[in-house]
Amino acid sequence: MDHLPKASPAFHHIEVPYIFDEACPYVYDNAGIGAWATFPERCGWSVSEMAADNFDFTRQNRNTLGHAASMLQAWLYFGMIQLVTALPVATKDYIRLNHHGQRIVTTEKLPEHLERYRQGLRSVSEKDRPGIIAGMDRMLKMWELCLSSCAGKNSPLPAEVVFSMMILFKTLIYAKLSVFPNSNEPAEAWYGTTREILDRQLQDTGCCRMDMYRLNQRLSSLAQYYISSLDLRKESRSHEKCTQTQCVALQIDEKTYKARHTSRGCTCAMEVVGQSELRTLVEQGSIPTMSFSNTSGLRMQDLNTQLGKPHGPYVAISHIWADGLGNPKKNAMPRCQLVLLQERVNAVCTSNEAVKSLQGMKSPNVPFWIDTLCVPAQECEEKRLAIASMALIYKEAEIVLVIDKELESIGSDSTVLEISVRIAMSSWWTRLWTLQEGAFAKELQFQLRGGAVSRQSLLRRDHRSDVDACTHYWSVSKAISEEALGMISDISRLIKSIDTDQGRYLLQSLNWRFASYPADETICLSILLKGGTEVEEIQKMPPSIRLKEFIKWQRFFPSVLLFVGRDTIGSLEEEGYRWAPKSLIGRYSDVTKYILKDPNDFHHRSRVADTAYADHQGFHVEYPGMTLDINKPFQVDPANPQILNFLNQDDGGWYDVLLAVAPDSSISWASLSPCLRPALIVPRPLSTAADDRALKGILVGIYKEQDGELFCHRRCEVRVRIHSFTLSEAAAAQFVTNRARARNRDITQKWCVG
Ligand SMILES: [Zn+2]
Ligand SMILES: [Zn+2]
Repeated sequence: MDHLPKASPAFHHIEVPYIFDEACPYVYDNAGIGAWATFPERCGWSVSEMAADNFDFTRQNRNTLGHAASMLQAWLYFGMIQLVTALPVATKDYIRLNHHGQRIVTTEKLPEHLERYRQGLRSVSEKDRPGIIAGMDRMLKMWELCLSSCAGKNSPLPAEVVFSMMILFKTLIYAKLSVFPNSNEPAEAWYGTTREILDRQLQDTGCCRMDMYRLNQRLSSLAQYYISSLDLRKESRSHEKCTQTQCVALQIDEKTYKARHTSRGCTCAMEVVGQSELRTLVEQGSIPTMSFSNTSGLRMQDLNTQLGKPHGPYVAISHIWADGLGNPKKNAMPRCQLVLLQERVNAVCTSNEAVKSLQGMKSPNVPFWIDTLCVPAQECEEKRLAIASMALIYKEAEIVLVIDKELESIGSDSTVLEISVRIAMSSWWTRLWTLQEGAFAKELQFQLRGGAVSRQSLLRRDHRSDVDACTHYWSVSKAISEEALGMISDISRLIKSIDTDQGRYLLQSLNWRFASYPADETICLSILLKGGTEVEEIQKMPPSIRLKEFIKWQRFFPSVLLFVGRDTIGSLEEEGYRWAPKSLIGRYSDVTKYILKDPNDFHHRSRVADTAYADHQGFHVEYPGMTLDINKPFQVDPANPQILNFLNQDDGGWYDVLLAVAPDSSISWASLSPCLRPALIVPRPLSTAADDRALKGILVGIYKEQDGELFCHRRCEVRVRIHSFTLSEAAAAQFVTNRARARNRDITQKWCVG
């Protein structure tokens, strides 16, 4: 593991044993790429036998499990280095002794090996590239197949060794991508108990359980391993009570909320903003900002933003309320916090040319906007107006400054790698309100300890302390920071994308974002994607109808929304809108297989990523499915009232469909059978015999067909599974009750789900 970067010198890499037996030595023989696959045969093992489920790795006690593990490590670990790089690997260069005198694997020499590999490929001509890439990708696929058959339940390989193989594999993939950027990047799989190794490391470092889950969907094993080397324990928030789906450290409660001073024990006075002045400014359409004057302390400034009138420069603050900079009761903050804010605001402006020229000879204190002081705290018309102009406030600010207690613990002289990873895993990242604040920013700066760093300087990688940036070599550190920086550059994409395209970016941006108050969701979404008028309107509506109204305005959504998140959040109940989940934010773990690092990749993967439009009749999507013809009278199996078996008349297969409803639900096949023409909609065709996992689908009742489009009502979520392709109808009649027949609808079938 020592080729991987670590955040602290005190961190100890996971030790990977080198499995070797003097009496029965297996060492990779570098016989050439073409001969890699037959290494086990050369050692007297049969690859095809090993691929069988429950293969006995002792081969009826002909060898020990240690011998088997040794052969597999030589083949799948050391052999892989040659397989990808086509350069012979000297196993002895990768072995060292630990403090106890045990032989362990070291990857210290791997970067050199990879650099030789990369240099060798530089001279490859354009016309030879496709052939080389295809060959390499074929080999990698083969390696994956071999690993998956040898790393299962009865594998003789210790979990650390399998983990080291995964890490090596990802490293080699990144090295390959650095030379051939358009080659294949296989999705990572976790074998056996390897995930537990990393989870344990992450937990030990103080990582929030929800973050572990969230980051696993977005970052590679290399990046997650790097995170496990960070020391997160010294930070202000404890994540001990958090679960996989919820971080409780960040939710705030208005009743118990306390404004925090900059240091414990500080008793300075609260600076309170005059209500009438604030409300008047907001009502006039101005942006009220704060700054200290030498003579009168904190004062409010009117930055008139009406069209054509120039306004002075200001900095907008983006913070998370859990840090104690908010105040739900009044527009007031401790003086110590404001003094510190002013200092920081001034500091980030010193190098900003726009601020310098706009500020001119005025006071050195640059005005700033912070919601705690500049949005009326009490419910009133002016509060709604202030919230409606939020997009404008963040767009017009010269700088948006992010203040997050966790980020403040990182020195501004840290590497781009550490800073970008820490931003990606920060609490600021998981809040819904901060999404638009970051997305609208002209210049986004993150406050660290000892100074701020801008998004641009991170993305350009010209941050002064980045050692990597000084070298032109490719490195794992660079690859990991690219991953995290990808997340940082993503947040502005949503806004820049065109209307019909926004749907695609929407779920990705909202995945894993949370707000303390559910009613804030549609307000934030309207600020982000709509205008001031809609934001004002939505605030006046009762929370129960806000999402429906937002859907009417937005119209375009990723069609996969039809399937996601329903287990936990439920659907809207109104006709025409039952296709929509009750909330668009939160955890879409089940959709992440469709949500990729680059949403533009969608089309390569699956049509489920298409954008579809919604109107009062429903959501107009294209998906495969099946129409059901249920026998009448309908017989329910009392033992399995939620299961229906059906014969697909197009492929001859028997399928099970299970209603995914709570056990005490009144919905059963018996209650649904009178519904008009039932049908199933599924995200992809279910037609391969190998596919025995249940696929999530939805059950609908069709009420009309028009121009090839099936108009239907959503009934409930289901799980569809292939039961058997070999069941005769007579045999099926013996034990399958609740029977039906079905016809396929192909992948271009149009549905309007309401
Ligand atoms: Zn947490
Ligand atoms: Zn104070």
